[in-house]
Amino acid sequence: MLIVLSPSSSNEQIQFLLNKLAQQKLETQYYQIDGKTVITIKDDCNLADFIALTAMNFVEKVIPITKPFKLVSREYKVSNSVIQVGNCTFGAGSLQVIAGPCAVESREQIINTALAVKKVGATILRGGAFKPRTSPYSFQGLGENGLKYLAEAGKISQLPVITEVMDVNQVDIVYKYADILQIGSRNMQNFSLLKELAQIDKPVMLKRGISATLEEWLLAAEYLVAGGNSKVILCERGIRTFETYTRNTLDLAAVPLIKELSHLPIVVDPSHGTGKWKLVKPMAKAAVAAGADGLMIEVHPVPSEAHSDGEQSLTFQNFKILMEEINKISNSNS
Ligand code: PEP
Ligand code: MN
Repeated sequence: MLIVLSPSSSNEQIQFLLNKLAQQKLETQYYQIDGKTVITIKDDCNLADFIALTAMNFVEKVIPITKPFKLVSREYKVSNSVIQVGNCTFGAGSLQVIAGPCAVESREQIINTALAVKKVGATILRGGAFKPRTSPYSFQGLGENGLKYLAEAGKISQLPVITEVMDVNQVDIVYKYADILQIGSRNMQNFSLLKELAQIDKPVMLKRGISATLEEWLLAAEYLVAGGNSKVILCERGIRTFETYTRNTLDLAAVPLIKELSHLPIVVDPSHGTGKWKLVKPMAKAAVAAGADGLMIEVHPVPSEAHSDGEQSLTFQNFKILMEEINKISNSNS
């Protein structure tokens, strides 16, 4: 059960209500979300027992929540959350295309890529500076230099930038350069990182864990929102299954399901979702047709020379073709 108080409720009123609920031996917690105070009642309880609370002028509404995730649920908020990054909006019906290399490899590489993807319609630039690599011997990213090059490329191309933060001790430095902070698949349940990013005022893109259920994913998003950051964008990037022809199995059913369960926007990453550049375009089109709010696409000037994920990266020319085909679908969707 959630009790939403009006934005003008005073500390005395909040305390009065908390005391009243405590007298009934109910376990409560309270949060400040988008300027409103929200009280959650942990115990199973009956809406009928609480509806009378709405007679108090500072109680806006009482909402029964049947799901384990609460603040991110569609039951809590019926309308889509709209997240603004520069001139881009996630969740308002227009398609956002995040594009760029897996990793920033040099100043020239990221600037050239930024200009090429911007020219054909990308709206956000990506590029990893701290890379979560399976092997410790693989390229780990350029660190702060990579962030500097990414931010510069973003300025030159006039695109907001997104990059991954892997650890709590990188939050300050990544915050300084990025417009959106990405939590990678391997860190979806890094609860210390989630709690830390709950306290920032920039949007966070939360990638689905390699073997996470939708419920676990939404509960991870709940950490961010309950901790104070409601600017959360979800990203479906494929899950580990028995199939080996693809790197991961892209779960596109997640798109309409997430839309049903949650008000948060969802983007799809067919690059990591398939691991094969030839599959990126068809799966990107399918993701748009399924209702995704955005795409994340890896693009590299020369994929065969990429330091990471070249096999799933598009050339500038292939990205241009993808954009042309995507535009046809997203225009016919709207
Ligand atoms: C990435 O987008 O750079 C990345 C490492 O993706 P994931 O966390 O989905 O593997
Ligand atoms: Mn990658």
